Amino acid sequence: MRLVYDLHTHTTASDGELSPKALVIKAKANGVDVLAITDHDTTEGIAEAENEACKQNIRLLPGIELSVSWMDKNFHIVGLGIDPDNRELQASLIETEELRQQRAIMIGKKLEKIGVTNAYFEAKGLAGTHTLTRSHFARVLINQGFAKDSREVFKNYLVNNKPGFVKTNWLEMASGIKLIKDSGGEAILAHPMRYNITASWLRRFLVAFKEAGGVGIEVVTGSSNADEIKTTAAYAKRFELSGSAGSDFHGFDNTWVKLGQLAAMPESVTPVWERWEG
Ligand code: AMP
Ligand code: MN
Ligand code: MN
Ligand code: MN
Repeated sequence: MRLVYDLHTHTTASDGELSPKALVIKAKANGVDVLAITDHDTTEGIAEAENEACKQNIRLLPGIELSVSWMDKNFHIVGLGIDPDNRELQASLIETEELRQQRAIMIGKKLEKIGVTNAYFEAKGLAGTHTLTRSHFARVLINQGFAKDSREVFKNYLVNNKPGFVKTNWLEMASGIKLIKDSGGEAILAHPMRYNITASWLRRFLVAFKEAGGVGIEVVTGSSNADEIKTTAAYAKRFELSGSAGSDFHGFDNTWVKLGQLAAMPESVTPVWERWEG
């Protein structure tokens, strides 16, 4: 029997809507057999999720989604099967948190200039002690009537050349991959079609990613269409990368992304789970 995998999800530990416990319960209800929790630059949700996964009899992979930079561009690397207690990893996450904090203050100042009230403190209030992301600023913009949904926010604000954009240099891509590997995990390129870069830059990236120890690429995501799955499957084959499947479920207003309900992995791709299931 084929198992159902969802290897990219978010909880309230970063910018997801559901608590780790609620996410595990929902995954079980949706028929997921193997779930990875991959919050942005934090492992805070994993202990609670592991606890619930035990009760629900669902397999949980401790994961993370690292923000990294390469050649002045930003990418997301999913780490699957990491040890959340790894010291170097946690030390690096503290540095990223500091970068996020500084960026958030700058985003807040820029948004106040266009009339958003108290942007930084409102976003910080929504994030609480959890990872403070642009999604939290998106919610502030929606609440104050600057946009109707997050799609509109990320078209008109918080992105390059738009109000509220702040350029950030995250951890170097190769260092991020090393941290994932050294903490026992596998490094996967998240949502390869969502970087707004040319195909030739993506190919250059994949060469460097592989050289640095990356082993997989998300072939099936919650927002992939058939063409995108074909394209990413071809990348997996060409660069000899395993294929991963993850919804990138956050909850919220992008209701078309369903937890654990993903298109099938193309036959031409070696699934990443063969690496741990043989
Ligand atoms: P950050 O890591 O703080 O830069 O925030 C990135 C997060 O913003 C992503 O993980 C998404 O949750 C959200 N995001 C980015 N672009 C979009 C988009 N076009 N539509 C909806 N959410 C987006
Ligand atoms: Mn997010
Ligand atoms: Mn991402
Ligand atoms: Mn994600």
